[in-house]
Amino acid sequence: ASPSPKKQISNVTVCSRFRPLSSKERKDHGGRVCVCRIDDETFVFKDEKEEESTFSFDKVFYEDSLQADVYEFLALPIVRDAVNGVNGTIITYGQTGAGKTYSMEGPNVLESDDMKKGLLPRVVDGLFEHIASAGDSIKYKIKLSMVEIYMEKVRDLFDLSKDNLVIKQSKDHEMLISGVTEASELLPLLSLSGKLVHLFSAWYWYETTDSLVRHSRSFAKPTCKIVSFENVFFKCIFLVLMLRLNLQAGIQNRAVGETQMNLASSRSHCAYIFTVQPDSTRDRGKTGKLVLVDLAGSEKVEKTGAEGKLLDEAKTINKSLSALGNVINALTCSSSKAIHIPYRDSKLTRLLQDALGGNSRTALICCCSPSTSNSSETFSTLRFGIRAKHI
Ligand code: ADP
Ligand code: MG
Repeated sequence: ASPSPKKQISNVTVCSRFRPLSSKERKDHGGRVCVCRIDDETFVFKDEKEEESTFSFDKVFYEDSLQADVYEFLALPIVRDAVNGVNGTIITYGQTGAGKTYSMEGPNVLESDDMKKGLLPRVVDGLFEHIASAGDSIKYKIKLSMVEIYMEKVRDLFDLSKDNLVIKQSKDHEMLISGVTEASELLPLLSLSGKLVHLFSAWYWYETTDSLVRHSRSFAKPTCKIVSFENVFFKCIFLVLMLRLNLQAGIQNRAVGETQMNLASSRSHCAYIFTVQPDSTRDRGKTGKLVLVDLAGSEKVEKTGAEGKLLDEAKTINKSLSALGNVINALTCSSSKAIHIPYRDSKLTRLLQDALGGNSRTALICCCSPSTSNSSETFSTLRFGIRAKHI
């Protein structure tokens, strides 16, 4: 595969996406909408007082946009580059209910309807497509980890007992989550989801046991080999399914943990971390890390008179979201003089340090409600996107 053409000037792509009006919004405000389409990059935003402002992004996805369009425009180039060893990040930002999780997962990550399938299942398909098209010449291994960041604590979604993981930087500036579970260790967990899964796990074992290498889980050797590709096309079908099931298991686990602790998923960030590593020493340096992040809701909680735990949550979320904005902003105004990039200001930006900075590509999707009833939150989401892109 060849490196993708550089369409954008910077390696940060910022898009906005408006979901369709919900049935509640149709009733509220007579279903009035705050967005008036000009073209695929520009729209006029109207607030409650009918005041207008014009916004431009690398791309605007309106309510009639397809999940496939979103994938093809902003994720496909990143997936293609990840297979060539370029790190990438895809982030969904926006108030709760704006369509972050729908964009990321679709109705669920096992969805097969192409109209609904979200970015995650498409990324999994895309990774394997690109690997398969590389043929037998390069063998790859893919690892998946999933973590949730709540109140500046990093929790392993494949093992809820690991609820305060430490983020470290290796000698070659790679960000590692010390002791995090990687996908190939998940088989017992998957069998929870039923017999069919069990059958496929058996397959998976059968296909991979000979090449499955389990290193210790220590920081020094964090790798777990999932598979080496011999019969590429045949294996891909199973591995795509396995990865999707792994994703599903992590997402279910997130819900279980949150119920136990009485938390709302909209108050934490969720990161899906794929590592794509060529399985030969010659190409080892070409390891690509691809991180998808479904952010905590960006809504301002002060409005509702939050106190106690809610207020602490809101402050922590605000702090990490503004840290993210600052980092992306610092990266996009990459003038020749070295500027300080404030990765250390939050766990989120620290975790994303090697996927955002250096040789990497980033896509930010600003998810918005089209309803006038949400216009002040939408305005602040759009401002975040604009600020991420320009000074
Ligand atoms: P968030 O994760 O930002 O809190 P969700 O992704 O859960 O928001 O979306 C809220 C609701 O809107 C869900 O019921 C979801 O199915 C629906 N929705 C969001 N985006 C779209 C879209 N592009 N097309 C159709 N329905 C959508
Ligand atoms: Mg969500």
